[in-house]
Parts: sequence; structure tokens; C-alpha cells
Amino acid sequence: MTACPAPIELGVIRALPAPAAAHLAAQLDRLEDDRGQDTAETLAAAVGLERLAQAYGDVVARERARLLQADMQERGGQTTRSVTLLWDVHAWATANDCRPVLARSHLLLARTQRNLGDMAACLEHAIRAAEHLDEDAPPGRRVFYLVKLADALGWTGSFGAARERYRQAEQIAAAAGDYERQMMVLNNLAYTEYEAGEARRAWAVVERMQAFAAAHGERFSANRLDTIARIQIELGWYAEAEATVLQAIAQYAADGYEEVDALAEYLLTLGMAQRGRGALDEAMATLERSRLLCDERALGEVELRVLEEQAELYAQTGDFRRAYQAQKAWRVTDQVLRSAQREAQARTRQAIFETDEARREAERFRAQARSDALTGLPNRRYVDEELPAVLARAEAAGTQVTVALADLDHFKRINDTLSHEVGDQVLSTVGGLLRSGVAGVSRAAFAARLGGEEFLVVLPGTAPDEAERHLDALRLLVRSHPWAPVTGGRPVTVSIGAVIAAAPGIPTQAALLADADRCLYAAKRAGRDRVVVDRDPCRGGQRLD
Ligand code: GH3
Ligand code: MG
Ligand code: MG
Repeated sequence: MTACPAPIELGVIRALPAPAAAHLAAQLDRLEDDRGQDTAETLAAAVGLERLAQAYGDVVARERARLLQADMQERGGQTTRSVTLLWDVHAWATANDCRPVLARSHLLLARTQRNLGDMAACLEHAIRAAEHLDEDAPPGRRVFYLVKLADALGWTGSFGAARERYRQAEQIAAAAGDYERQMMVLNNLAYTEYEAGEARRAWAVVERMQAFAAAHGERFSANRLDTIARIQIELGWYAEAEATVLQAIAQYAADGYEEVDALAEYLLTLGMAQRGRGALDEAMATLERSRLLCDERALGEVELRVLEEQAELYAQTGDFRRAYQAQKAWRVTDQVLRSAQREAQARTRQAIFETDEARREAERFRAQARSDALTGLPNRRYVDEELPAVLARAEAAGTQVTVALADLDHFKRINDTLSHEVGDQVLSTVGGLLRSGVAGVSRAAFAARLGGEEFLVVLPGTAPDEAERHLDALRLLVRSHPWAPVTGGRPVTVSIGAVIAAAPGIPTQAALLADADRCLYAAKRAGRDRVVVDRDPCRGGQRLD
């Protein structure tokens, strides 16, 4: 794993002007933290930000913009597209160990897993999200991540741990004077207590919410009122619940929101409250309104709960025929819903699988394209892609780097007198010897096959005397190998031409290779099976031929 790339990737625009980078980051911050946004609008903005980030070569901003798109796609119901994109960004962030992107990709994956019904995986991602979040993240965002973690703990039954996280989140929100976030913490805590079957505890939280809202002169949103009404029903306070949910419905009408399932949900709550206080006819009418709304808007999940409530209500009034009908409708709806859910889950899993597969395939292909089939060593393409970066790092770190060419001596004779197959075997063996030889030098050292019987050895950060010793050891490693079984006693040797360059002023790859080649030529002329080194390439180098 490499460290998270600096926001600017070289090669596009060399220096991103600081105001532009800050502007990109600020826009992303705002859009990521915004809750009640218009998804289509934000999606379009995220596409624009991705392009801008790409033009600036700001890879972190680019991936954040892509995550924002995945987030909006999911909210807009494009689950498969969203998951594909999300998984792709997550793979990039993992490969690059990019914490700011990982924090958010884990957060979004937690939601995906929850929607898939895998609460354990949801919790795992919520934990990772919180772990990767920067300690300097703004309080609002830290609260949000903690609340998501607490919610996930609640869904997996760890209520104690969930409470602890809600408490931490509340403290941070309170210290920041963030009313909306503090209310969000309390609301989710109340709901988790309710889900845990702890109606009394839930109510204690509601009372704190009420006091808090009153102190700030704020009103509850329709959704929060509905949560409160559910808790009141659980406590058996049916008349209060009815009043609360009627308030929610009035609020909903006044706000003019068009959230698809909200009204059906509120009517269900109202029906439950009415049934609770014995107003069975009213409850019947209310539940039927809710059911029609569910039918009209295909709200299968709410409809299931409405039908369940209706079945119980009819049974209570002794109308067993209708109770039976409601139960039958419940079964049909349940089946339809479950198979639709299964299909959606399968599509999502398939998208995850395909994205992973495509990435693995691309990695395999890339690895293949960068390695030599005969020896398994990196090839010239790899060298051309990696060596410039090795040289740049040595220059930046102020160290030396040794670049050596090793060429087999009189290799043509082996081919001619033995066979091409034996020649291949010799090449493959020499490749293995060089690989194991450089492995002992340093982690950064590597050998590559440039083509034919010519190899490259790169030793970054090794002092000149030591580098020379290592190169001579490589030469001896080849000549002292027990070649008899392969070549029938014919010796195999290499000549090595090397250049040791030191920062500042490390020459280009082309200049270094040309210089190493001159040294190699000198080694051949001096009788082969030897190492010739130029230690001073940037100052013109010695003329060796
Ligand atoms: P020198 O000591 O001057 O380097 O002599 P040489 O015979 O090693 O050099 P020359 O460049 O004359 O010949 C290199 C030979 O390597 C020619 C070519 O047939 C052989 N060769 C190149 N690639 C391969 C390969 O993949 N397999 C085999 N068996 N031979 C190869
Ligand atoms: Mg040769
Ligand atoms: Mg050659």
C-alpha cells in the first residue's frame, strides 16, 4: 500500500492554485454534509466537480466527487449504478490508503449493507468509517459518523455501546452549539430505545427533546412527531399519541413535502392510536386511507404493516371474514415484496461482484503487461513506468541511486552450440539469480529484463562502495552457479556496466541508461565477466571507451 496520494497528481496541471483546491474542497464539504438537498441538482453539481478536479489533477477531490454521485444515485433510487460506482471508489481508496475518501466510502457502504439487510456488515463499515474520519473533521461531521455508528450498533443489538456513542455525539454537538445535529442525536437515540423495546427510556429522551426544542423556540418536524407518537402508543398513551400524530399530519400538509411514504406512515400511526383508545370505526377508516395510499404509490413495506394492523383490528371487532382477507392480502404483499427485495439484493451483489472482478482483471492484465513471461521479472514497460519515479524520489530525498546493465557474455554461443531451449533456461535461471540477489540489498532494489539477454539492476539509496560490492556479488552469483546440469560445463557469466548518480542533479533515465551502456561496453572490451562503474555521471562522466 502506498500513502494516500497528494491531492495533486503530476502530469496534468503541475501546480493546482491553492484557492482552486480550497474552493473544490469547500464545495465538496458543503454538499457532503447537506442533508435536505435536491438529489438531481446535487448529482449534477458532483459531476461538474469531478470534471474540475480531474482537470486540476486533484485525485482526492475527484474521488470525493464520485462518492457524492454514488450517494445521490442511491437516494434517487439508482441502486445498482450507485453500488458499482461506490465499490469502484472504495477500491481506489483502499489501494491508495486514502483516509478522507475511505471514511466516506465506508459510511456509504454501511448504508448499502443495511439496505441489503446485512446488519453485521453495516456495523463493520460504520466502525471503519468512524476510524478513518480525520480527527480534525468539523464537529457536525464527527457527530454524523458517530450517530451512524450508534444506529448500526443498535441494529445489531449492542444497545449499551450504541448509547455510549450517542452520548459522545451529543457532547460534541452541544459543545459546537449545533442545534440540528444535537436534535438528530436525540431523535435517533429515542428511536433506538424504542426499537430496543425500552419505551420508558425512549420517552425520557423525548422529554429532553421537547425541553431542548422549547428552549430554542423550535418546532418538531412531522417525522419526529411521528416517532414521538409511536413511543406514546408503546406506552399505552393513545389519546396523546393521536394528538401528536394529528399534529404531524398538519405539519406535513403545511410543509407541502412530497416524501412518498411519509403520509401513509403517519396515517398508520394514527390508526394504531385510534384502535388503542377504542375508536375502532375511526381506526378502520384511517387504516383504509393509508392502505389505499400504499396501493396507489406502491409502498409495499408500509402496506405490510397496515395490513397487519387491519387484520388485528377486524379480529378485534369479530369480523373474521375481513380479518382473514387482510391476512391473505398480507401474505401476497409480503411475497411480492420479498421477491422484489431479493431481486434488488441480487442485482446489488452482482454489481459489487462485477466491479471487483473487473478490477481484478484489470490488475492481472496490468501486472502481465509489466512483467516478462520467461523470467517473471519486471519488463521494459515496468522500467519505463517506474524508473522516473525512483529517480525523482532519490533526487527529493537527496540520496544516491545505482542503475546497472547486466548482459550475458557470449550468449549467442550457448544458443548456437547447445540450443535455444537451453538458452531460455539459462536466461530464466539468471533472472532468478538476479532477483534473489537484489532482494538481499534493500526493499527498493529491483532487477528487470530489458530484452534479449540484457538485464537492468536498480539499487536506490545504496552508498556507492556498497553498491559496487553488491554488483560484483551479483556477477559472482551468476558465474558460481552450478551450470553443469544445464550447459554441460560451459560457463555462464555476465558483464555489468553501472552508473551511480547522487542528488542533487540526478540525470534522466535516458542519460543514465546511455552511460551504463557505455560502461557495459567497456566491461566487454576489457575481457567480460566484470563490473565497470561510473560514479560521477552528472559531471560529464569518464570516457570509458
Ligand atoms: P556479448 O558477450 O558481446 O554480449 O555476446 P553475446 O553473444 O551475448 O551477444 P549478441 O548480442 O551477439 O547475442 C545475443 C544473443 O541473445 C542473440 C539472440 O539470439 C539471443 N537471444 C536474445 N533473446 C533471446 C531469448 O529470449 N532466448 C534465447 N534463447 N536467446 C535469445
Ligand atoms: Mg551478450
Ligand atoms: Mg546484448
